[in-house]
Amino acid sequence: MKFETKAIHVGQEPDPATGAVTTPIYQTSTFVQEAVGVHKGYDYARVANPTRTALQECLAALEGAAHGHAFSSGLGATTTLMHLLSPGDHVVAVNDVYGGVYRMFSQVYEPKGYRFTYLTPDVISTGLADHLDEQTKLVWLETPTNPLLNIVDIRTAAAAAHAAGALVVVDNTFATPYLQRPLELGADLVLHSTTKYLGGHSDVVGGFVATNDDALSERLAFLQKSLGAVPGPFDCWLVLRGIKTLAVRMDRHCENAVAIASLLERHPRVERVLYPGLPSHPGHRLAARQMRNFGGMVSFLLGSEDEAAVVVARTQIWKLAESLGGVESLIELPARMTHASTADAPFAVPGSLIRLSVGIESVDDLLADLDGALAI
Ligand SMILES: *Cc1c(COP(=O)(O)O)cnc(C)c1O
Repeated sequence: MKFETKAIHVGQEPDPATGAVTTPIYQTSTFVQEAVGVHKGYDYARVANPTRTALQECLAALEGAAHGHAFSSGLGATTTLMHLLSPGDHVVAVNDVYGGVYRMFSQVYEPKGYRFTYLTPDVISTGLADHLDEQTKLVWLETPTNPLLNIVDIRTAAAAAHAAGALVVVDNTFATPYLQRPLELGADLVLHSTTKYLGGHSDVVGGFVATNDDALSERLAFLQKSLGAVPGPFDCWLVLRGIKTLAVRMDRHCENAVAIASLLERHPRVERVLYPGLPSHPGHRLAARQMRNFGGMVSFLLGSEDEAAVVVARTQIWKLAESLGGVESLIELPARMTHASTADAPFAVPGSLIRLSVGIESVDDLLADLDGALAI
């Protein structure tokens, strides 16, 4: 079965009791038992819920994974993964990791005695082995990164990590499984904020982890019920509904993004455009190898932070907001918004950087609005 078909059907057989074509929202906390311990596979909704099961099966299939676990948010999924580790363990992460993940690592786990090393995407792609030791349990990758859109070589990094006995996690939120499947490239675990492209309509917060490793999956199921960062049935249903149109949405996001990146690259006020789909991007060839297409996120630099702050407030269709991956186009200033928590990090994002989440509106309207905001 091809991707588009799996997205609509896996885990979502018509309801045997009623024939409902769409998986119902099982809005229940508990399930009746015929006798003690005799039930239909569900006893309490923190442990499992049929709407969540449908989402887990569908999204795991899209990642080419045997197992999937849904969480209350991307950070809920991250917290749960961090419980695979113990104080004293060492984590190597790409240095422009998502701001919220950096905040968690540096302000929650580092004070508890976990060690973190942050490496540039280049070092991760070419010289990771030199930075791993016996305590290194996890290599945390994100590609493309947020908001600099750097590309990390998943296959090379996974080989180095495995040689040192470390697990590899790829945060695949920006690419989605439609554009990139990290498990096929050697990753052990793939993580999502389903809040973004998978939900796709800016109406739900959720997270997800997939793996092919039976033992890891068993431990994650245990942690999922024991830590309790689980999504509600309605949230699972919203993500399931979003996923049905993922392929067509991603095609349009990519098509619009490349048009916008090209306009920006020609614009006299723009100092630099960061989009892996542009041949001028240093990660372009690697991205072309490990991704189907280049995604809907575009970043660009203006002359100064003040100029950038004026431009992001001038657009009409592009709404000034955090988050990304919805059908509507968003514009933001990472240094003062999504990435304010990395302001003190050695790899703080440039103040003049504007991040675009390119939506699926008419590209003509998007281009005209952006062009107008950039006019002096
Ligand atoms: C948003 C995001 C997260 C965090 O997910 P939440 O659902 O907001 O908790 C993690 N990684 C990336 C790349 C993100 O964009």
